Amino acid sequence: MQYQSTRSDISANGLQAVLSGLAPDGGLYVDSSLSRRPFPWDEVLSLSPLSMAARILSHLLPDFEDMDEIVRLSYTNKFDTPLLTPLVSAGDYRILELFHGPTSAFKDVALSVLPVLMTKARRLSASSEKTIILTATSGDTGKAALEGFHDVEGTGILVFYPDGGVSPVQHAQMVTQTGENVRVCAVSGNFDDCQSGVKRAFAALSRSEELKRLNCALSSANSINIGRLAPQVVYYFLAYRQLLDAGDIKLGDPVDFVVPTGNFGDIFAGYQAKQMGLPVGKLVCASNANRVLTDFFANGVYDRRRDFLRTASPSMDILISSNLERLLYIASDGAYAFVRACMNYLASNGVYTVPEDIMSRIRQDFAAGCCDEETCRETIGRVWRELGYLADPHTAVALRVTDEWKGTGKAAKAVVTLSTASPFKFPGAVLEAAGVMPSGDEFAQMEALSRMSGLPIPAGLSGLKEKPVRFTDVIGGSAIEDYVMEVIRKGEV
Ligand SMILES: *Cc1c(COP(=O)(O)O)cnc(C)c1O
Repeated sequence: MQYQSTRSDISANGLQAVLSGLAPDGGLYVDSSLSRRPFPWDEVLSLSPLSMAARILSHLLPDFEDMDEIVRLSYTNKFDTPLLTPLVSAGDYRILELFHGPTSAFKDVALSVLPVLMTKARRLSASSEKTIILTATSGDTGKAALEGFHDVEGTGILVFYPDGGVSPVQHAQMVTQTGENVRVCAVSGNFDDCQSGVKRAFAALSRSEELKRLNCALSSANSINIGRLAPQVVYYFLAYRQLLDAGDIKLGDPVDFVVPTGNFGDIFAGYQAKQMGLPVGKLVCASNANRVLTDFFANGVYDRRRDFLRTASPSMDILISSNLERLLYIASDGAYAFVRACMNYLASNGVYTVPEDIMSRIRQDFAAGCCDEETCRETIGRVWRELGYLADPHTAVALRVTDEWKGTGKAAKAVVTLSTASPFKFPGAVLEAAGVMPSGDEFAQMEALSRMSGLPIPAGLSGLKEKPVRFTDVIGGSAIEDYVMEVIRKGEV
């Protein structure tokens, strides 16, 4: 199996693609044969969650042997429910809760698997190089990656986050991370500055002779890595199975999914589930006030030349949505020169335009909507008061877009809304929206939220306050490259 780069005719096998993350031309790896390779999507629906995951992952990553073992190592005793991603009802909403892993964010679904895949890939490709993970995070990826990679042999991990751009809980989760091979550092600026800085450092260091001499190779835990994306395909099947079990649908009925979107990884995984045959109707891309994707789906112009807004849903505060590149590649039948031109134009001019024939193909599978801050607050409050369901701000954005989507009359009978974070990660915003003035620090707020809802504080969050802070560095985006080299040289990861 070969994965193609989105930007040239470079390709790689699954092991190389997982180990390197990004293609050497700066493109992302894509499995362009997925929709043509037969997959028994209906048979896997009757399997247990772990067996289902193993079958789906073997199809997406056939170069890995023993997928059953990989899945077992990844998930056993990490999630608080054997369903992994339970589907719950609140009024007419069907909500797929993706936050039952160790860090209470949906990133856990994939980042529990990625370190195991990388360890396996190193062994299968007989690599003696140490894999150094560089990650830019808007809050959730960082902690989930640290949790997945800490003390994993043969790896080191550096996480960069925008200074002041993550929630206090997310901040506390990262800077208290234990492990001998971890480093966390703030970067001045917003998430796009941070992500661009890490990408530049990544590109520069990939050519570094010193790094080679130190027997280290860089990789990424961001959703640009196919090993990140593949595990996310599984929960679309798990959702479908749970709708079947509940009698909400019959086998073969289409299901729409509304996905709170940032880097377009989560929703692209849904597209891959559809390519594998799962009866997915529309994938509805839900954005917050940073509505660059909503505008793109409406008019075919991707235009990041606008203010970056800090919202209550920071993991969706993104103006450069990396994984959209994969969709462009597939919707243009692998026209990598076109994709490369778009990405170059975006880098130099902040905008690109996609021709109407490609847009109309994209619109067969995708729709989009957005929700501003005021409406997000109202939605959290309304859903809590009327339905007794506590939604975090990311989920609330998607619930609101779900209402709008149903209102168009174009929705399938069954619509699933993805819930990407526990409300306990954003206690202040959730309390306020539910009509309780938050007081005290975030830890007091978590307790208030727990009292109000009767829900327990998730295990990974409750002990945070007592943990010692290990990391306090703040650097500029242009200093990332030197910083990484220094840390590696000193053997600190
Ligand atoms: C990462 C994240 C998202 C966005 O997911 P993408 O795959 O980047 O589109 C949404 N909500 C939360 C809570 C997240 O952590």
